[in-house]
Order: sequence, then C-alpha cells, then structure tokens
Amino acid sequence: MNSPNDRAAWLEGGTAQCSNLPGSPSGPPWRLVLLGAPGVGKGTQAELLCARLRACLLSTCDIFRAAKERPDAGRTAALDSALGCMRRGELVPDATVLALVTERSRCLRCAGGFVLDGFPRTVAQAESLALLLRRDGLKLTAALNYELPIDEIVARLSGRRVCPACKAVYQLSSQPPRRTGVCDHCGTPLMQRDDDRPETIRVRMKAYGESAQPVLDFYRRSGLLVSIPAGGAPQDIYRLTRSLTAGRLSEGYALPDAAGRA
Ligand code: AMP
Repeated sequence: MNSPNDRAAWLEGGTAQCSNLPGSPSGPPWRLVLLGAPGVGKGTQAELLCARLRACLLSTCDIFRAAKERPDAGRTAALDSALGCMRRGELVPDATVLALVTERSRCLRCAGGFVLDGFPRTVAQAESLALLLRRDGLKLTAALNYELPIDEIVARLSGRRVCPACKAVYQLSSQPPRRTGVCDHCGTPLMQRDDDRPETIRVRMKAYGESAQPVLDFYRRSGLLVSIPAGGAPQDIYRLTRSLTAGRLSEGYALPDAAGRA
C-alpha cells in the first residue's frame, strides 16, 4: 500500500510537488464538495471518503493552518490577515481564498479526484469553483451537505481537543483521551483550537448561518446537493451518505462500502 500523500501541492501552493501522485482510480475520479456547519463532523467524513475513493483531501482551513506553522517571513500580508480572521472566527475575504485556490487549481485537475472541505463557503466561491472546473471540462460529482441541530454542534465544538504534535482529535464527552488532557498516542498535552472557544464559536456560527444558505441553494439549483443527517457515529454517517447518494449520481458513480465494494 502507498504511504499517504503529503498534499504538498495543496498545502504549500507554488511549485511544491506532492509526495505521491495517485495512480489511476479503478473508476472515474470523484470530485466532491462537502458542506455543513463547523463541528458537524464533515472533516471526519472527508477523511473516510478520501480513504475509500483514493481521492485527495483539499481543505482550505488546512492551507491556513500550514501557513500558521511557517515562520512569519514565509507568509504574505494576505495570509497574515487571513490568520487574523481565522483567530476571530470570521470568514477570510473571498479574494484571499480565491487567490489561494486558483494558485492551487492543478489539484482540481488531479487524476485522483478530490474532496473539498471548507470551500466553497460563499456563492462567489462556488461560482469561481464552477468556472475553474468548467475551464478544464470537469464537473463536480456531488455537493454533500451534512446537517445537525445547532445546539449539538456548539456542544461538540467546545468539547473538541487536539494534539498539537500528532494532530489526533478528541471529544471530551464521546471520545475523551485515556488520561485527562494528554494525547493517547504521543503523550503531548492537548490543546483547544483558538477557534473552538465558546466566544469564537458563536462568531463562526453567525458567519456560517449568513453565508451557508445561498451556497446550499446554489448547489440545489445545480442538481448536485445531497443532504445527510449527521447525528451518530462516523461509520453510520458514512453508510447513510452511501445510501442517500445511491441512484442520485451520474452513471458510473457509487460509493463503496466499508470493505471497498461498490
Ligand atoms: P474550518 O475549520 O473549515 O471551519 O475553517 C476555520 C476557519 O478558516 C474559518 O472560520 C475561516 O476563518 C477560515 N476559512 C477556511 N476556509 C474558508 C473559506 N473557504 N472562506 C473563508 N474563510 C475560510
């Protein structure tokens, strides 16, 4: 089995090359957009989908997090200002996000396909994505929208803890670490992401509420939207994604089950 792709082309942009270019997938490449409020669990679904479809995870948030870890000298003023927006829970301006995605548009053409997480967040971003794809004669396979009541989301997010060293993610109520405050895998003290603090969550939810509906309408009008209830364990939500997309996608597309069978 191949080692995981480091996604350098996406995370770093410019001329960076990925460690592993995907081989041809067994069927046509999947090109998915994942939608849903922060904390709904779409990051976990994105990972499951990427593993099963052998597609690359393209998360705009990961671009910002990778930039945060670079020394100040390696960041543009636009990226520095984007990190400020992120800390405050505000959306990064469209122009900044679109410049970053356009610079990385070769990832959209990748033969392995992609799962976009965190992008598009506004109609302007959705329209630009459609334009970038159309220019290359490509089409999205679907826009999967994960849904959960807002109270449940706030509870989930404020209980999330992450390991700054190995990036493991915990949930204090449903998936706590074995020793309080310490990573099970590497023993590093766990942290709460700046944007998972309750005061920031409220700003993020407001930003999400204002921008999400027009994006959902955009994909509904395009006939690409599939909405999926996101309560329960990740594997159950994946199974639901599989059953709710069955028969709704273009010819040749069917999500594999846990054993990889279509
Ligand atoms: P996420 O983890 O996807 O919720 O993203 C965390 C933060 O990154 C957001 O609160 C925004 O500040 C920023 N961000 C990520 N993707 C985008 C985007 N497509 N448009 C605007 N801001 C974004």
